[in-house]
Amino acid sequence: MTPLPRHWPTELAPSLRDDLRGWCTLWNVSGIVPEVSVAISWRMTSTLGRAYYNTMTIRLSATLLDPTAAELLRETLCHELAHLAAYRLHGRAIRPHGREWRALLAATGYPPNATIRADALPSCFQIGVAGKRSRRTRKTNVWTRLARLLAR
Ligand SMILES: [Zn+2]
Repeated sequence: MTPLPRHWPTELAPSLRDDLRGWCTLWNVSGIVPEVSVAISWRMTSTLGRAYYNTMTIRLSATLLDPTAAELLRETLCHELAHLAAYRLHGRAIRPHGREWRALLAATGYPPNATIRADALPSCFQIGVAGKRSRRTRKTNVWTRLARLLAR
């Protein structure tokens, strides 16, 4: 069995920690598990999650703790963990959402996109996403846009 992450927040279910370890095994980077630290941020409102390679830390927005966002929380954790794994496997010269990262996401069964589809969201979030959007808004990263919606 793979080791445990360096830090795991009490707010997150142990099953998600097992998912994290499973993804690392799948990606052949089990060695990073004891280096990875996961934290919840109550101040993070401009994005749902962020990965910091220097400290091997994943920060997740507290908005994801809403019970209706459980699947989104899992996908965000996988998304951010894949950034740490891709950098470890390929170095920092790769593009954040380039083909190396997309290959890792695809292996998990999640769509290898930097954005997520509106119909994958909890129904309570769909209204805002499906609303009329300007050209500029459409170009906004959906993860960023979602965080703004969730922060309302
Ligand atoms: Zn990303």
